[in-house]
Amino acid sequence: MLMSSTEFFSHLPPKECAKCGEVMDEMHECYANKCVDCESDIQ
Ligand SMILES: [Zn+2]
Repeated sequence: MLMSSTEFFSHLPPKECAKCGEVMDEMHECYANKCVDCESDIQ
């Protein structure tokens, strides 16, 4: 029995920022493992 990719990703745990631990939007997953606030802190 195959699981659709949509169903597979829906079972993944929420992604958290490596710095502050805040849960990030899935749309942000293509970036580094930090949230927008922490990424902007770097610069
Ligand atoms: Zn953060």
